[in-house]
Amino acid sequence: MTTTLSPTASLTFDVSRRPDPLPDAEREAILADPGFGKKFTDHMVTATWRQGEGWKDAKVVAYGPLSIDPACAVLHYAQEIFEGMKAYRHADGSIWTFRPEANAERFQRSARRLTLPELPVADFIGSLRALVEVDQAWVPEPGATGEKSLYLRPFMFAFENFLGVRPSAEVLYAVIASPAGAYFAGGVKPVSLWISTDYARAGAGGTGAAKCGGNYASSLAGQLEGAEHGCDQAVFLDSSTQTLIEELGGMNLFLVYKDGRLVTPAMNGTILEGITRSSILELATDLGLTPEERQIPIQEWKDAAASGELAEVFACGTAAVVTPVGELKWAGGSVDHRGPGHVDEVALKIRTQLLDIQYGRAEDTRNWLTRLA
Ligand SMILES: *Cc1c(COP(=O)(O)O)cnc(C)c1O
Repeated sequence: MTTTLSPTASLTFDVSRRPDPLPDAEREAILADPGFGKKFTDHMVTATWRQGEGWKDAKVVAYGPLSIDPACAVLHYAQEIFEGMKAYRHADGSIWTFRPEANAERFQRSARRLTLPELPVADFIGSLRALVEVDQAWVPEPGATGEKSLYLRPFMFAFENFLGVRPSAEVLYAVIASPAGAYFAGGVKPVSLWISTDYARAGAGGTGAAKCGGNYASSLAGQLEGAEHGCDQAVFLDSSTQTLIEELGGMNLFLVYKDGRLVTPAMNGTILEGITRSSILELATDLGLTPEERQIPIQEWKDAAASGELAEVFACGTAAVVTPVGELKWAGGSVDHRGPGHVDEVALKIRTQLLDIQYGRAEDTRNWLTRLA
């Protein structure tokens, strides 16, 4: 990979405010009930990279369609990566984001795996700041559930019009933003999981550890199979032995034992290293839990649910934060660790702790927050 820029290079984002932003009343109506990923702010960031020239043309412009040639490489070979993060409005009106260096570094790792150019960490964070500065009216108040935010979606893709198979010599980086409501509109509700054995989302040596669109494309068939069996999500296993738990299509997974162990699959090259996951591992000891990263046979879940040792299961990621998991189903069977009167106490405690840090309601003792505006 030849990127000509030094890692500390800093782009300047040229701002062209659109003359026709959405009227205040219409924006407020969207922020009152934003849903997820349906409405977008007035502006977006774009920057381009060319082999031998590096990054240039960094700007904030009116949100709108990109013009893409039918021969654009990304449409054919899926050389694309993305990130997902949120901007949170604190009580004093200031706007913050959570561990953006971690997202920036993961974006660089994803770029290396997909042979895309690395964007310097400072420029990644600069691009978020540039967009949120201009569209700050789009960052909602936390609201009654205390968890509305502005979802930020940085992405990068092969932008060269060429059907030959090689890393693209031209790349587009962009950031769009979308107001997001409480993930669970009617309160936190456990999801059911389908064990996907016909389909894996990633394999050894593949792109499972990179945040790329292709992983999501390959997870959809398993997801759909799960839906056909009445499940909300699919859990993927390792593709070679189909015995070890990996993760969901877009969330990492934790098992909580009654003895206080908090267990999650260890990074193995095919699992995406979630920032929510690593934050939870860091918070675990504060919450009196014993974190464990290791291989987890899917049979262990079934056995521990049946024996009563398993207290809770939850999935985690930026969008939903922490989602309790209930029933586990597979071809020919199912198990549910929840007894009568079950409460997802640990999952909800972790969820509240993370949200309280993100919204400035709890002290940020680990310096996880960065101010955007
Ligand atoms: C983004 C993602 C996650 C969660 O990562 P966070 O940094 O916690 O949002 C988990 N699994 C996959 C496959 C992902 O793409």
